[in-house]
Amino acid sequence: MVREKKKLTKEEEVEREVSEEVEEKEEETLKEVAKEPSLIERWQPKTALGMKVKNGEIKNIDEIIDKGLRIYEPEIADALLPDLTTDFILIGQAKGKFGGGQRRLFKQTQKKTKEGNKPKFSAMAVVGDGNGHVGIGLGKSKETLPAREKAIRRAKQNLIKIRRGCGSWECACKELHSIPFVVEGKSGSVIIRLIPAPKGTGLCVEKECQKILKAAGIKDVFSKTFGQTRTKINLALACFDALKKLIMVKVKPKAVEKLGIIEGSK
Ligand SMILES: [Zn+2]
Repeated sequence: MVREKKKLTKEEEVEREVSEEVEEKEEETLKEVAKEPSLIERWQPKTALGMKVKNGEIKNIDEIIDKGLRIYEPEIADALLPDLTTDFILIGQAKGKFGGGQRRLFKQTQKKTKEGNKPKFSAMAVVGDGNGHVGIGLGKSKETLPAREKAIRRAKQNLIKIRRGCGSWECACKELHSIPFVVEGKSGSVIIRLIPAPKGTGLCVEKECQKILKAAGIKDVFSKTFGQTRTKINLALACFDALKKLIMVKVKPKAVEKLGIIEGSK
């Protein structure tokens, strides 16, 4: 009995050390992102699409998105959208007794093996130009930093175009501050409904979803969620799914004029 107890505490100690390390790295990570240098000049494209972007044949990201082409190189997004911002969705939580359960950038999971616990980390990134384009990406790795890199890369490969407008009956100003109609997105058990709101409302959504909508360039929105919304990965994916539906709906020309709908950036 005594032995077991000792072993447990040792394991716990190791776990705590790991989580402390992760916290340190998290702070470093946020600093690094802030001073990231532009690598576009040194970029050597590997795909045909990348070449075209580098040559200047394609100057607008909408040309790629409208054709439904896949972006394999994240540098394409960097080159075409110079004011792309990167943010992270806090999908993990802190371990330990004191202040445990706080939101963290890296989600830690473990697999039990013969050799001991094998940790794995995942991170989720959001990129957007604040003007009608967003992307979201999930990265997993055995270390923290590669997970972050993967997440950013995937977010840039996942860029989509959204529709903006003013669909609120209280406002009807035809400006680009909200969404033109109600949309619903789903992932796992989470369902999120985004509703047009009048000017000055702000983003009435969960905190992590605010990051996605802000990156997309939406300023006012109401929302309603259903399901297990503390699973932040699913919540973020559901929110992204809802934004995808904005572009999937067919809109009549009359509605375009009435709601002031604009696709992508203005
Ligand atoms: Zn309005």
